[in-house]
Amino acid sequence: MIDLRSDTVTRPSPAMLSAMVSARTGDDVYGDDPTVNALEAEAARLSGKQAALFLPTGTQANLVALLTHCQRGDEYIVGQQAHNYKYEAGGAAVLGSIQPQPIEAAEDGSLPLDKVAAAIKPDDIHFARTRLLSLENTFGGKVLPVGYLAEAWSFTRDHQLALHIDGARIFNAAVALDLPLESLTRYCDTFTICLSKGLGTPVGSLLCGDADFIQRARRWRKMTGGGMRQAGILAAAGLYALENNVMRLKEDHDNARWLAEQLGELDINVSQHTNMVFAQLPPEQVAPLKAWMQARNILLSTGPVTRLVTHLDVDRAALQQVVKQWKAFLAAR
Ligand SMILES: *Cc1c(COP(=O)(O)O)cnc(C)c1O
Repeated sequence: MIDLRSDTVTRPSPAMLSAMVSARTGDDVYGDDPTVNALEAEAARLSGKQAALFLPTGTQANLVALLTHCQRGDEYIVGQQAHNYKYEAGGAAVLGSIQPQPIEAAEDGSLPLDKVAAAIKPDDIHFARTRLLSLENTFGGKVLPVGYLAEAWSFTRDHQLALHIDGARIFNAAVALDLPLESLTRYCDTFTICLSKGLGTPVGSLLCGDADFIQRARRWRKMTGGGMRQAGILAAAGLYALENNVMRLKEDHDNARWLAEQLGELDINVSQHTNMVFAQLPPEQVAPLKAWMQARNILLSTGPVTRLVTHLDVDRAALQQVVKQWKAFLAAR
């Protein structure tokens, strides 16, 4: 199977599994799991934050971040297409009574600060209290410009807002820019990382921030059911990923670029950012392409825009196969 639907489909490698099997464990709810503690310390070190928290999923990491930043009746400003607005089942509103204020992102994935400024509510009993700006990096594979991150940081300082980054794929951004993680994460109060996407672990995300924030977030993690016991077997996969699977994200970006070039040569309208390729296909081709590929053990996220995501379980040879089958599909029409 060549699975390009998402980078979440990666399976743990034999080396990662063996790190998991030999992990030292304890009860993490008591703070006793040495491997979880090591992973949290490593994430804090890499990002220049004081502390980190290991959680089962990125959705829960974002939820816990929002619950910790905002009280009932507060609001966060967020992108209209952002994961933690649109794709997390409204958790902040359902569970936190936190109001989202979505705004349209710019072409480069940033939220224009003049639009953010216009969305901030004055201190008036008619309005929710605007507390937080939430950005996403990468956004649809796009790397937010570092200059923008710096501006957003000083903007939020001027407006007494906290700044959270949904950094599910923030390592893709760091690797694409050839910068250490810390040079991106210095411009936020808190951010998340997904270990279970391009970094290749089966489970796990991290929320990073200052020590007091993470201590408060620990209570929300417990309340939302994310306090795991001998979680060291999962954290070991995370430590393995941080050590072995970060720099190789560049291969995924190179593979995505190559795939986009190849599809472009077939006159397909494509765009590519980091590990994501988006193909705009004639609508009548979408369903037949999906079926054609599926019959050949190739999975794509087809739709109005078809998405192909590269990751550590698809190599160049697999992508050559995809291009070959795509050519055959077009020739047969
Ligand atoms: C995948 C993803 C998440 C979290 O997803 P989980 O499947 O809950 O781990 C959050 N934000 C973005 C941008 C994502 O792509």
